[in-house]
Order: sequence, then C-alpha cells, then structure tokens
Amino acid sequence: MRSGVGVAEMESFHFGGTEIAPGTGIEVSLELGDGPAGNPRSIPVYILHGTKPGPVLGLIAGIHGDELNGVSVVHHLIHGDDHIADTDDDTINRSKLAGTLICVPVVNIEGMLLEQRGAPDNRDINRLFPGKETGNQSQRIAHALFQGVVSRSDYLIDLHSAPHSRTNLPHVRADFDKKDCLDLARAFGTQIILHSNGPKGSLRREASAKGTPTILLEAGTAHRFEMEAVHAGIEGVLNVMAHLGMIERTLRQPAFRLLVRRSKWARAEAGGLLYSLVKAGDHVQKGQNIALITDPLGAKTHTIESPRTGVIVGLALNPLVRAGDPIANIVLCSAKKWNRTQIEQGAQGPEEESVDDEESLDDA
Ligand SMILES: [Zn+2]
Repeated sequence: MRSGVGVAEMESFHFGGTEIAPGTGIEVSLELGDGPAGNPRSIPVYILHGTKPGPVLGLIAGIHGDELNGVSVVHHLIHGDDHIADTDDDTINRSKLAGTLICVPVVNIEGMLLEQRGAPDNRDINRLFPGKETGNQSQRIAHALFQGVVSRSDYLIDLHSAPHSRTNLPHVRADFDKKDCLDLARAFGTQIILHSNGPKGSLRREASAKGTPTILLEAGTAHRFEMEAVHAGIEGVLNVMAHLGMIERTLRQPAFRLLVRRSKWARAEAGGLLYSLVKAGDHVQKGQNIALITDPLGAKTHTIESPRTGVIVGLALNPLVRAGDPIANIVLCSAKKWNRTQIEQGAQGPEEESVDDEESLDDA
C-alpha cells in the first residue's frame, strides 16, 4: 500500500480530455468552432493544479475585449514578472498549491482583436450568461465558458476595468446579500467594496445564483496595461487564495474600508469640453472645484463642484460632455477615515463603515 503525503495522494484534474497532474500547469482551451476564414476559434485556458486538496478557483478576464488590465493580472499570476512559466519568480508555487486555479486570460478574443467591448456580433457577452449551446455566437461563447469553467469552479473572480471613457479606482463589486460573495470581497482587500448583484445575464449574477460565489474587480480604464491597477488585482487574487487556504500568505488588508451600498455621481450641468482637476482615489471636500468645462476655444464656461465630501472612485476621461453626463463617482467618506484606508491593518481586522447614498451604481 502507498503511504506518505503529498503528490501521490492528489488526483489529476481533467479538462476537455487533457489530464493535468498534481503540481503542474498546462495550457488547454475551450473550443468555439471555426471562424470566417475556416480558422479554429478557441478560448485559451491555463490550469494550475496543486499538490494538495483544495477548492477550484476560476479567474476570468477579458469578457469585455477592450478591458486589458485583468488580462495582465492573469498573465502575472501564471508566469510571474518575467513572463516565463515555472521559474523562480512565479507568483504561485504550483508544488505548494492547494486546489486548482483555472485561468482564462481573455474570454472575448475576437473582441480584443477588434479593440471593442462586445463580441464580433457587437453583443455584450456579460449579459448573456449562462449562455445557450444552440444560440447566437455570443451566447455560445457564454455557454462554453459557463459549462467549461464556471460550473467546475467553487469560486470565481471576474476581472474588469471601466470603459475607455472612464477610469475606476481599483475596487471590488459583490452582492452584499450573499455572505459567501461578501466574504470573498472582504478577503480581496480593496479599500472600497461596492454592492452590486450585477445585471441579468452578467457572469457574477448568474454564477452566484448557480452556487459559485463570484466577485468582480473594477480597476483602471480600457485599452491599457496600467501597472498600478494590475498590481492591485494580483494582490487581491493572492489574498483570496490565502483566504481559501490555497496558498500560505498573510492577508494584506487596509486598516479601514468602506462597504458601499450606493454612491452618487457628480454630473455636468452643461455641455462642453471637460478639464478634470482630480484623480481617481483623491479625497474631495463638498464644494471643492473638481472640474472645469470650456467652450470650443478653451474659455471656461462652467465649474463643477463636488456635491459631497468623499473619495473619487470613478472618473470621466472623455473630454466631450453633455448636460447630465457623469463626471465623478464620489463615495461619502471623511478625510480622516480615507487616510486610515491607506495604512495596512494591525492586529485587529479592518474596521468598516457602511455607506448608502442616493444613487445606485448602475445609473451612470
Ligand atoms: Zn467589463
């Protein structure tokens, strides 16, 4: 009889006919059928299978083809900073990993090549989950991901950024009314967590409803690798993996964080060309000038004041604005408390404050 612990006791992981032995990482794929030129279409997947029992965590990026920060987060988690798998700098040591990490760096490959959010048929894949096997091409992509990865994962992290017209301070979104989701969001460790159960057909809503607690990262803007946002994503995923017992690591948490039910946008009262005076993550006082609007010759026509004291979580990047356009998403918070979110927690767990302002997240 076999004795001892470790690799010998751990079973292989099977994915689409490929066997992944304990302590290894292997590239596999989800097949999507041929493209217009007869080329086979597929979604690349990388699986890190540990040497000890543990949960299956799915890590998904690029459902929106133009949102690239999450793609880079997945790259770094697979390969480390040198972008070579299985070297000393790897972020995750597969010989010590408990459980399995399923990495999907880009779901919407063709959308990425077209530098657009939607699939080639312009549909938003993130409104079509759990997908349909015999449906349109976007429904089939959603179905392949849901069957191949979501249904096999115990937990999911979905990585996004703001659209190209805006940027987001890195923060997690989760359904506060589902304890497992809120636990994951807290473990991720951002200073701000926003409540959102997600629109119908979104991955986090449909996966969570089917028993796979799912959280979403919003970090930075589209069409860019922004290393600050990428770093926040890497740290958060590693925090979640430590929380789930997959890796050994001390959770890095802020001393103070905000659980935000609702936040409010400051809006342009008149159209024109926008000059923002603040950055995402800045703390602003009520009445502080946060942006100017000019006429086509650059002369100031309006000043936008912050309607509240708080922190800028989302910010418009597109200079072209019309009356009613969202300029800055501001979460209520005192300067003193915001300063406390910048330091790491001590012996006690993070202190929290609930924020419930007047508008919902999806009104922007
Ligand atoms: Zn997105």
